[in-house]
Amino acid sequence: MAGIYIHVPFCRHKCSYCDFVSYPDKIDYAEAYMACLYKELKMRGEELKDYEFDTVYFGGGTPSYIPPKLILGAMNQIKACFKLAKNAEITLELNPGTIGENKVQTYLQAGINRFSIGLQTAIDEQLADLGRIHNARDYVYATKLLEGQNFSTDVMLGLKNQTKADVQKTIELAAACGSRHISMYALTVEDGTPIYTDYLNGELPDSDEVAELYEFGKKLLEEKGYKRYEVSNFAIPGYESKHNLNYWRRGEYIGVGVSASSFMCGRRFTNTFDLDEYMKCIISGFYPAVSSEQVEEKEAKFEYVMLALRTAEGVSMKKYKETFGTSLGEDFPEALKKSVKYLELSGDNLRIKDEYLYVQNSILMPFIEEMEQ
Ligand code: SF4
Repeated sequence: MAGIYIHVPFCRHKCSYCDFVSYPDKIDYAEAYMACLYKELKMRGEELKDYEFDTVYFGGGTPSYIPPKLILGAMNQIKACFKLAKNAEITLELNPGTIGENKVQTYLQAGINRFSIGLQTAIDEQLADLGRIHNARDYVYATKLLEGQNFSTDVMLGLKNQTKADVQKTIELAAACGSRHISMYALTVEDGTPIYTDYLNGELPDSDEVAELYEFGKKLLEEKGYKRYEVSNFAIPGYESKHNLNYWRRGEYIGVGVSASSFMCGRRFTNTFDLDEYMKCIISGFYPAVSSEQVEEKEAKFEYVMLALRTAEGVSMKKYKETFGTSLGEDFPEALKKSVKYLELSGDNLRIKDEYLYVQNSILMPFIEEMEQ
């Protein structure tokens, strides 16, 4: 299985917590940028003729901010340059503040069959605090436009003054509007973002409080029929994100656009984070990758385990052996001993017990230590 990721780096406004490569003041570049992106798609497509791709994901930034004909153009180019599986999952990230009926029509015409909506919270004061450009009503409007479509909703935990009742209101709104998939993740506070000041001032919930919100949200989601299949991802069975499952299964993917990362043939590479440099490289016919490394076997094994243990299905012992020729027990004997009380075997799969999945980072520590020896 393989995926294609397309990075669209334009936003109407920079959110207070955002450290993604996204520009709030460069929408005038959108057309020229996408023309470069089409060219990068062509360059990559020529190299990857033998591959079949199962997923496409437009992320950002705000892909729904740029003129929709540019998304249609990207999809036409993908279809012309790559072999796409018949039932490919094609997702577009959508900000509720940037959507209208005509846009949705063009997306459907382009073949988009899954949408990922950044709601974050149904509490308008919290949205304003985050610098989001939309309110809860805009979300409801967006979901009405997407009626009958497959869409996911992002929910954020750890916001200023956020209570369990706020989390409940957010999840209930997403469920009532027909979201088949909910990503519920904790706000990560990055140094250099405006929200970092709130963090330093002690205005954000601490990690124990966030863990409580998470447990509360998880229980509510499960009551509503959303099954957790990865630490932050819940879906009505059958609506799991294939694109993200491919990442967690350490599948291959090609990333196109400024700052996009790829993992192909055991090699990881990342494009420049600089918009001008990206466009100059492409116009001159060069790949814009600024870092590239062949992943060593030891690291590959650790990555495989780390990614799989984020998921509810865990690591398939059989697939691990088929992939690396050695068993998990041979490669990580000490880590397995140290983590034994957190792990369980279900058939062929070794996974983190349900009650410990949220704290998987600490459970993975012994695996990191053993990899570094
Ligand atoms: S919409 Fe997303 S990418 Fe854009 S500024 Fe906000 S968080 Fe960043």
